[in-house]
Amino acid sequence: MTEHTAPALASALAPIVSDHALLDDPHTCAAYAVQGITPRCVVAPGSLDELSAVMHVAREQHAAVAPWGGGTQQSIGNPPARLDLVVRTERLDQVLVHEPDDLTISVSAGITIGTLREYLARYGQMLPIDPPLLTRATIGGLLATGMDGPRRLGYGTLRELLIGITVVEADGRISRGGGMVVKNVSGFDMMKLYRGSLGTLAIIASANFKLQPIPRAAATLLCSFADAAAAFAALEALHVTQLTPTAAEFLNDQALAYIVATEITEKKPKS
Ligand SMILES: Cc1cc2nc3c(=O)[nH]c(=O)nc-3n(C[C@H](O)[C@H](O)[C@H](O)COP(=O)(O)OP(=O)(O)OC[C@H]3O[C@@H](n4cnc5c(N)ncnc54)[C@H](O)[C@@H]3O)c2cc1C
Repeated sequence: MTEHTAPALASALAPIVSDHALLDDPHTCAAYAVQGITPRCVVAPGSLDELSAVMHVAREQHAAVAPWGGGTQQSIGNPPARLDLVVRTERLDQVLVHEPDDLTISVSAGITIGTLREYLARYGQMLPIDPPLLTRATIGGLLATGMDGPRRLGYGTLRELLIGITVVEADGRISRGGGMVVKNVSGFDMMKLYRGSLGTLAIIASANFKLQPIPRAAATLLCSFADAAAAFAALEALHVTQLTPTAAEFLNDQALAYIVATEITEKKPKS
């Protein structure tokens, strides 16, 4: 797509989404630059069908597209060679299906981890992941970046928690993998492809997960050891007790000093 066709892209997208969901003034678009490359348009579809229609138009207009969740991790991956359209998932923020008795949930990709956590807490349930920036990071971004954290020790990775996915491909085609059942082993496990794909394969529209009950009690222990071998031996010993360790972090002196310093700075009252 060349510069003089940019208004054509905005005009083609305008009938699909409401006014406030389509931006094409350069100043606002600059806020959605991906690694220094400013898109010509930014669009926020409000449903799966709108997302599909947006991608169909983008393909017709030969527009280069980047998905955008909370924008917390846009600096990773290769910089785009060019960028015409940023597709925001902000308005795709619904709980689609929740089966509390089956411990399963289906959510749209733009829901933030914080909103999902608050929703599930009402049912005494959780998706056992603990990424930072909860109020901004989205489920779609989480899957697309494919990172895992300390709680993989007890609950496994997002890969194991994911049981179904719906994506919109580059031409607007809607494609689904997995389902809402925890044991789903037939056919190719295509949905796992999208984890860590950084928005390069398709836009994740929604995802289904298995959930866990929130434990009745949990505690964090901070122990110091003379060396790493002693720390790992303690962890092994913990595993044969009746306790259920769900996370373990090994901090060297520098990391611990940094965390303590950050804590103190954050808690210091404003003068
Ligand atoms: C336990 C844990 C610990 C973590 N620790 C850290 C940490 O310390 N620091 C840190 O920076 N991150 C960390 N992460 C990762 C962090 O959670 C993700 O970076 C965040 O969820 C990204 O979400 P976002 O909505 O801001 O994505 P964005 O920043 O908007 O996008 C990130 C990437 O995903 C793509 N993308 C976004 N939405 C979609 C979609 N719907 N479909 C397809 N592609 C999409 C984008 O194109 C981009 O390539 C951690 C994750 C976990 C699980």
